[in-house]
Amino acid sequence: MRKALLIIDMLNDFIYGSLASPTNKEIIPNVKKLLLWARKIKIPIIYICDSHYPEIDWELKIWGPHAIIGTKGAEIIDELKPEPNEYIVRKRRYSGFFQTDLGILLRELSVDTLILTGLDTSICIRHTAADAFFRGYKLIIPRDAVITFNPKDNEEALKYLNKVYGAEIKTTDEIIREG
Ligand code: ZN
Repeated sequence: MRKALLIIDMLNDFIYGSLASPTNKEIIPNVKKLLLWARKIKIPIIYICDSHYPEIDWELKIWGPHAIIGTKGAEIIDELKPEPNEYIVRKRRYSGFFQTDLGILLRELSVDTLILTGLDTSICIRHTAADAFFRGYKLIIPRDAVITFNPKDNEEALKYLNKVYGAEIKTTDEIIREG
């Protein structure tokens, strides 16, 4: 098994800006814990980042302006800043795979198992999980390092990911303990 850690949409706009919810920031410590663990055991770290063109991006019709290319809102939060040897994949839709180079990157890294962290359990995590499943990747999701805009829905969203895509739902500490 060759794992990669994916950190999805931990961007200023989702944590502190236009699409922030009061609870999104609660997962920062656990995502950080997994980030430091992944650096220590040297598994690939891939940031999946919303990155929209102003005005024309289809998604903005639903959500309004957010994570616009070149703005502070589209930058990864300071708490989780990437190091130079880590990968950043920019996306314009919910899925980290859709029209991005994530697929080729994972192939070149010989990865077969994805640990999904970040936002939002029922939107970008869910769609990225779907595309990962279609491509034959195994999925591990730390229940305490992902969140939805409405945290009440998190358990329901995790159940769906487990049932439909076979994602193993664990805690951050379990994942770190298992190595
Ligand atoms: Zn977006």
